[in-house]
Amino acid sequence: MMRRASCVACVRMTDGVPGTLGELDAAVSECRACPRLVSWREEVARVKRAAYADQTYWGRPVPGFGPVDARLLIVGLAPAAHGANRTGRMFTGDRSGDVLYAALHAEGLANQPTATHRGDGLRLCDTRITAPVHCAPPANKPTTGERDECRHWLVRELELLAGGLRAAVVLGAFGWQSLLPVLADAGWVIPRPRPRFGHGAHVELPPRSPSDRPLHLLGSYHVSQQNTFTGRLTPAMLRAVLRAAADLAGIRPQAAGPG
Ligand code: SF4
Repeated sequence: MMRRASCVACVRMTDGVPGTLGELDAAVSECRACPRLVSWREEVARVKRAAYADQTYWGRPVPGFGPVDARLLIVGLAPAAHGANRTGRMFTGDRSGDVLYAALHAEGLANQPTATHRGDGLRLCDTRITAPVHCAPPANKPTTGERDECRHWLVRELELLAGGLRAAVVLGAFGWQSLLPVLADAGWVIPRPRPRFGHGAHVELPPRSPSDRPLHLLGSYHVSQQNTFTGRLTPAMLRAVLRAAADLAGIRPQAAGPG
């Protein structure tokens, strides 16, 4: 299902198909397939927000973050213009990430509650974070065409993670609707009618093969400021979904936070 690409990292790989997550992340970082998003991410990196005027923005696609043998996958929407598009790591350097990483740490899925920049020492426990769109979109709204263009990266990421993956938490309806066809492309059978997104939604997908395990799909409202400032999503609500997913994935938290 993986399409062949012509980027510099891709041509180093056999047939242009990443064979490891490291190769995949390198190839994603060089992608320029969506003209509108390439233009926007680079414009934001050039103009910058005044508060970050002295920083060098990443200004490129943001690859997934977390160990290659993760049991739990967290799927967001797309990098934020002055967050991950600045720092180069998923959910790092903005208020959404503050909420997410505090909850991950509190549930023992991250070694620290803060994420400020690559190299800040943050490590995830059995958890990887990715997105269906790897470039920051204007107004945080990728088009369906851009989502579809980026889809092959997530399909390959899932194929490479599939052996160990036990659960996925999807943040928001856009991620949910994006992920279902990706899971189908990567070999899972999606029930009909398609499961609907909701906070706390839980679907168990049957194993891809007799030697596999089921994949648990859980929904959570997105950690956007729109949701967290209004109280639509509280830290307790997010932690409950993460805790349930970690339990279903059989993760033994290693960095338990407070209460
Ligand atoms: S959104 Fe995805 S497909 Fe489009 S340029 Fe970025 S990495 Fe490439």
